[in-house]
Amino acid sequence: MASDACTAARALVASAHRITVLTGAGVSTDSGIPDFRGSDGLWTRDADAGRAASLETYLADPEVRRLAWRTRLDSPVWTAKPNSAHRALVELERSGRLRTVVTQNIDGLHQKAGSDPHRVLELHGTLHATVCLACGATGPMRDALKRVAEGEPEPDCVRCGGILKSATISFGQELDGEVLRRARLAVLDCDVLLVAGTSLSVQPAAGLVPLAAKAGAQVIICNAEPTPYDAVAAVVLHEPVGEVLPDLSSVPPSGGGRF
Ligand code: NAD
Repeated sequence: MASDACTAARALVASAHRITVLTGAGVSTDSGIPDFRGSDGLWTRDADAGRAASLETYLADPEVRRLAWRTRLDSPVWTAKPNSAHRALVELERSGRLRTVVTQNIDGLHQKAGSDPHRVLELHGTLHATVCLACGATGPMRDALKRVAEGEPEPDCVRCGGILKSATISFGQELDGEVLRRARLAVLDCDVLLVAGTSLSVQPAAGLVPLAAKAGAQVIICNAEPTPYDAVAAVVLHEPVGEVLPDLSSVPPSGGGRF
């Protein structure tokens, strides 16, 4: 990596003391988990898949729920391994400069790679747990998937018999207020916001980028395609995250930066 943009990004990372990272589905494509809106994304290939992801449809239509359970059972997430982008963020955290990873991903790969789970904020929840839409009880996804594998088309809540869903945020569902509050604090309290592998088309996650820029953070966006927030970034890199993040995480600190 030798472009002017790469050199500028390396300089920003070198002088940073407090880095917050915002990741999206693009950091997990190298692990075999397709994104939604990239060139080979799930919704780019099948627009109906996007429409089925609303909470309203899930509650109203048993067929949508059964399909969702089969899709969860077959998800590439269960066998996916962290890739060089996830590992680079672990390295950056160990150097003491990366404070928080705010992720829109539900795959748990940051934690699997070794990121401190207390520093990972899962804005859109996790596929590794279930939640009952009636009583709110949560449980391990593997228990529900075991029931699906044994022939139950739609496992219900063991406590109240209510409708179970993955503990992920569907369209029409509110984000966890506490997780969002901590994510906003993390972008307000960084000197560099490193944005990686996200189309920045989902709110309120995307709104974290102008929030950070307004508060004085230098924003680096690394995404294969342009995003609606490229104009607020100090540096934009249209390069693979699997190459950019290891490169940036290897930059030694220069001792400057904003306190
Ligand atoms: P998105 O699909 O809207 O955007 C992903 C972006 O990453 C695209 O612009 C694509 O061009 C880019 N990209 C893909 N691979 C890349 C690579 N190797 N290097 C650089 N750029 C790359 O995803 P999003 O912005 O995260 O929003 C989609 C929503 O879907 C999120 O809410 C997320 O919860 C959910 N989602 C999660 C996963 C996951 O957990 N891995 C996968 C798909 C979707």
